Amino acid sequence: MTQNTDLNQALFERAKGVIPGGVNSPVRAFNAVGGTPRFVKRAQGAYFWDTNDQQFVDYIGSWGPMILGHGHPEVVAAVQAAVLEGFSFGAPTEREVVLAEKIRELVPSMEMVRMVSSGTEAGMSALRLARGYTGRSKIIKFNGCYHGHADSLLVKAGSGLATFGSSSSAGVPADVVKDTIVLEYNDVAQLEEAFAKMGSEIACVIMEPIAGNMNFVRASVEFTRRIRELTKEHGALMIYDEVMTGFRVALGCAQSLYAKEIEGFEPDITVMGKVIGGGMPMAAFGGRREIMEKLSPLGPVYQAGTLSGNPIATACGLKTLELISRPGFHAELHLKTGHLMQGLKAEADEAGIPFSIDWQGGLFGFYLLPELPKTYHEVMKTDGAMFNKFFHGMLERGHYFAPALYEAGFVSMAHSEQDIDRTVEAAREVFKTL
Ligand SMILES: *Cc1c(COP(=O)(O)O)cnc(C)c1O
Repeated sequence: MTQNTDLNQALFERAKGVIPGGVNSPVRAFNAVGGTPRFVKRAQGAYFWDTNDQQFVDYIGSWGPMILGHGHPEVVAAVQAAVLEGFSFGAPTEREVVLAEKIRELVPSMEMVRMVSSGTEAGMSALRLARGYTGRSKIIKFNGCYHGHADSLLVKAGSGLATFGSSSSAGVPADVVKDTIVLEYNDVAQLEEAFAKMGSEIACVIMEPIAGNMNFVRASVEFTRRIRELTKEHGALMIYDEVMTGFRVALGCAQSLYAKEIEGFEPDITVMGKVIGGGMPMAAFGGRREIMEKLSPLGPVYQAGTLSGNPIATACGLKTLELISRPGFHAELHLKTGHLMQGLKAEADEAGIPFSIDWQGGLFGFYLLPELPKTYHEVMKTDGAMFNKFFHGMLERGHYFAPALYEAGFVSMAHSEQDIDRTVEAAREVFKTL
């Protein structure tokens, strides 16, 4: 065990010499929980192995894409076949058309689709499109929602109601975020106030339907309904960021779940990533034809990408979407995830630890709180030290959860009931130590 950690430690030291913080994306560095990140050597099914061959049950799945588990043989075969045909052409391919048609079939609100290479790029482009289409500048986002690291979205809430936020990163000039309004998630009154004040200046409202970047917080039906009504009423667009929820919470994505509660519900633009690439760099945004036709080369809103619609990424994404389209896939995944959540909850109750849970499809959130939070502020009431102890206890026992309390978790179809039972048993031991 000590030996294992030492080998990861050695690699981490080397990494820190050449890569800032030793990682290529910050949450991987374990800054929130402390300790040494595990360097992954390989992965298969529900597991990955670190650089010393310690096995972990993987509950992050590359932060969402690996809904089938790692190395699904049919996906691997599709990628291998694509590799032999060429890596990238800078000219269109049939597979991009097939993938776009497949996305439209599964998500009818996406009448037209533009492919890009990351969720950040998709969110940034969707925002530019909404501004170009409406001819307006102001955008509304919600505290605790993440839409990638585009400048105008790196904004934290200001003080007071419907104030303009300040940038949450160095290097973002105040001018760039002056049109970004940050409101509280699930706060209908604040939303109504913002529209009453400046509805005619708002280009769009961007939201996560289930906020997976503050663990797992559902937008209430009423909140979602009011966003749809107010944007329509004021000529603004509703952008639904389904990068995390897309094809993970349901085959028709989160919008199909809200459409059951809100008659005729459809966002104007949807942003996708993660699962649609099946683990390859692939993301997309799409929406109503009249909006999407504002994009270059048809319209005045510029958007482009050398590797957009990459032939290997499209092969990987397309095969992934085909495999998850089989009837009952998401219902089965929802049951698996439910077993994990209910198992953890039962053990926490037994140990007298405050614990609340929620999940949808292969996405879950648990909190060391007696009740599910509804806003970022409530999420942050979690006892961080207790979470860190839980995280490291599980990690030592070979169960890899997100290394931060404000991140969602992921179950794949490759997770067996035995995997989940083993995780719950490990949690029983860990809860006793908290
Ligand atoms: C992951 C994520 C993004 C950013 O996607 P990247 O591919 O990491 O750039 C955007 N929005 C949401 C909701 C996400 O979960």
